Amino acid sequence: MQYFWAVGAVGGRRGLALSTVAEPAPRFFRQIGAYCSVDTLYAFGAAPMTDATVASVLEPTDRPFGDTGHRHADVVMAGAGPAGLAAALAVAQAGQRVTVLAPGVGPAGLAPARAIDLRTTAVLGDGIAYLQRLGVWERVAAVSAPLAGIRLIDDRNGWFRAPEVLFRAAETGRVAFGYNIPNAPLVAGLLAAATENAAVTLIETRGVVRAAPSTESVVLETQEGLFFRAKLAIAADGRASVVRAAAGIRTREWSYPQTALVVSFGHSRPHDGISTEFHRAVGPFTTVPLPDDRWGHASSLVWVETPDEAARLMALGDDAFVVAVERRLGGLLGRLRNLGPRAKFPLKGLMATTTGRNRVALIGEAAHVVPPIGAQGLNLGFRDGAALAEALSGLNGDPGDAVVTTRYARARAADLVSREIGIDLLNRALLTNMAPLQAMRGLGLHALANSPTLRRAAVEMGLRPPGPVPALMQPLAEV
Ligand SMILES: Cc1cc2nc3c(=O)[nH]c(=O)nc-3n(C[C@H](O)[C@H](O)[C@H](O)COP(=O)(O)OP(=O)(O)OC[C@H]3O[C@@H](n4cnc5c(N)ncnc54)[C@H](O)[C@@H]3O)c2cc1C
Repeated sequence: MQYFWAVGAVGGRRGLALSTVAEPAPRFFRQIGAYCSVDTLYAFGAAPMTDATVASVLEPTDRPFGDTGHRHADVVMAGAGPAGLAAALAVAQAGQRVTVLAPGVGPAGLAPARAIDLRTTAVLGDGIAYLQRLGVWERVAAVSAPLAGIRLIDDRNGWFRAPEVLFRAAETGRVAFGYNIPNAPLVAGLLAAATENAAVTLIETRGVVRAAPSTESVVLETQEGLFFRAKLAIAADGRASVVRAAAGIRTREWSYPQTALVVSFGHSRPHDGISTEFHRAVGPFTTVPLPDDRWGHASSLVWVETPDEAARLMALGDDAFVVAVERRLGGLLGRLRNLGPRAKFPLKGLMATTTGRNRVALIGEAAHVVPPIGAQGLNLGFRDGAALAEALSGLNGDPGDAVVTTRYARARAADLVSREIGIDLLNRALLTNMAPLQAMRGLGLHALANSPTLRRAAVEMGLRPPGPVPALMQPLAEV
């Protein structure tokens, strides 16, 4: 894919694009393109291709590339994770027709059934209003638990031990900071809402394999050889986004010496709606409330460890694993039972240099991946969708116009940069043994423990991004 894009970009810059339409010239230029990366070409100021050039290099020679050769949509989206599905609904509410190309969205899908996502998501603040406005909240409310409080416990055993800090939602005039929602029913609820929405078309595919933005439109090709032409492409195809790469959007990527292990379980003592985050030298160990079930109380756990220790914990039998969790919790939730299946996630970071460019808008992990500290990842993804809908609302013209993608990218920039820096600092402050950083962290927690005003300010910072709240996130009703 990159070759074709590269060829076109070279063509756009040198003025050769339209002269290379005839065979066998494109094949020759593909060879040249193989030696250039997309980034290099953009760095030289290469211009996007015209539709005619895209046609010449993207379309297989045995297939006509005209109105008969591909399907049309206003907006086409690759990927159907929680951030993407929510964005599809949001963009549909902004008056656009959206075609979603992804595995696991069709009734009799081509792709193997979606692997069940064992994670739960603490959807904070305005994220619940977003789900309400998208018609999804009523589908997941019954399996969600309110977060009435967040407790931080310093478990580093360092020389500077900080006091416990408890943030209570009531202290900030709220019933709850948000709700903890299991990912599997959340995605199922989003998918059901998308299926019922006449402006959203779901197309099952093994994946989008190529994308080609041009000056007039953007074409996505699926693994099954179908072509979709639209004015705007939404890249919601996760961290290894094919569509992001085709738009020439660069990323910074890094990894942490940490793996997160997730599991849900029942327990004998109530959690009282409080999520508890133990700050340990290898990373946080966080329990998050789930609704009581017929056996009693339940919680989900995100346990961040070194990769070796996480592998050892994954391999433990259930009884030994329960003992390990109970030991860490020190009796906080009583005796554990009904242990669910475990999954692990190596921790990585990724940040795209922009979220909108060349008829492509990035959503969710295609734009940003952050470690699971402070429950920010999908909350950021939800804010992406709401901001994109805002950039498109009331629009009569071209949804992929640079005015729209630039407006969207500007709206997301401050939130993304501030969260990336904040979360990375928090995580590294746990990992480091540097005395001054530990002292600063401890002093910060001391101040929070003793000052309701500081606690309220920290909560507002954690729940509300800088800048105006998009219409789709405006509070609807206290839930
Ligand atoms: C342990 C852990 C705990 C977390 N807890 C929280 C939390 O409490 N709160 C919070 O806000 N966030 C949390 N997160 C982050 C959150 O889970 C992610 O941000 C979220 O799942 C990302 O959703 P997404 O839709 O962007 O990406 P994904 O879920 O990765 O979806 C991408 C989709 O694209 C599809 N796809 C991939 N390639 C292609 C292709 N080529 N063509 C078409 N489709 C394609 C995939 O099949 C998939 O459906 C946590 C993360 C981890 C690791």
